[in-house]
Amino acid sequence: MKQLSQLPDTLVRKFCDRPRTYKRIKNGLLKLYVATKKGAKHKLLQTLIEYHDAYDLRALSVKNIFELVAKVKLLYPNLEVHTYRCLCSRLAPLFSYKCAVEWLKQNNFILSLYSGMRYCPYCNADPVYATRIKGQSVRSDLDHFFPKDKFPFLATTLHNLVPACSRCNRLLKSDQIDDLLNIAMPYRDDFDDNLHFDILIENIGDCFSRVRIDKCHVISFPNKNKSEAGRAMALTCFFGLEEMYDKIFFEDIGELLRRIQIYSSNYPEFLKLKGINVSQMIWHDIPDREDIDKYQLGKLKRDILHQFGIM
Ligand SMILES: [Zn+2]
Repeated sequence: MKQLSQLPDTLVRKFCDRPRTYKRIKNGLLKLYVATKKGAKHKLLQTLIEYHDAYDLRALSVKNIFELVAKVKLLYPNLEVHTYRCLCSRLAPLFSYKCAVEWLKQNNFILSLYSGMRYCPYCNADPVYATRIKGQSVRSDLDHFFPKDKFPFLATTLHNLVPACSRCNRLLKSDQIDDLLNIAMPYRDDFDDNLHFDILIENIGDCFSRVRIDKCHVISFPNKNKSEAGRAMALTCFFGLEEMYDKIFFEDIGELLRRIQIYSSNYPEFLKLKGINVSQMIWHDIPDREDIDKYQLGKLKRDILHQFGIM
C-alpha cells in the first residue's frame, strides 16, 4: 500500500557483513570463471566478480540487479540464452535463500524487517507480524516479489523480500503475472500517492438514511500526473482489491458512511474548540499518511473521508 521505508543501512550492512557467505559467492564465481577459458560467458563472470568486489551482490537493490543484467546483455550480445540460463542455474545455489533465511532468523533480522508494519503492504487488510514465542520465531509470509526460481540472483536480495499476508503471497506465486515490472512494488513505489479509492453510491438518500450497503461499491482511480499510477492500478486489479473491500469489509464501510453523515453535519462547535478532530469522531483510528500500514484499511478509510471532504 505504502512504500516500505527503505531498509535501514545498519541492518543491510550487518546482513552483508558475513565473510563466509561473501567468500562462498566469490569462490563460486571464481571457480566457474577459471573453468571457462574465453568467450562472452567468461567476460560475464568477470563482470559479476568485479561487481561482487565493488558492491557485494547480496546487498544490491532489485533496480541495481536489473541494471546489471541489462548492462551485461549490452556488453555481451553474443551470449546465447541457453548459456546464460545454464550459468544462472550454476550460480543460483550461491544465492541460497535457505542459508540466508537461517542467518536472518538467528540475527532477529526478520523481526526488524516487520517492525512498524502491521498490515500487508499489498492489500492493507490482513495482518503481517513476526514475533518470538518460546524462543521460536513465528512470522507470516516473506514474499519474493520477483520469484527466486525465475530470478535466482534476487533470492537473497533484501530489497526483494516483502512481508506479506498468505493470500497476497499465494496470488503472487500464481502464473498469472506476465510482467512483474508493471505492478507497483512496495520497496519502489509509493502506492498512496498514485491512486485513490472512492465509494460509489447508487442512491445517496437510501444509503445514508438506512445504510444499504449493497448499493455501495469501492472503486479506484489513478492520480493524474503520477507516472507510477499505472503500476498502482495494476496492483489493485491483480489483487482484486475493489471486490475484496466490497465483499469482506462492507460492514466497516457502511459504518464509516453512517458516521460521516452523523458527525460532519452536526459537528459540535465546543469539540472544535477543544481541538478534537472531526475525522477522529467519525473513525477513531484514522492513521497519518505515513502510518497507513499500521491500520487495517488505513488507506481506504483515509480516502473515503477525503472524498466526503472530512480530511
Ligand atoms: Zn495481503
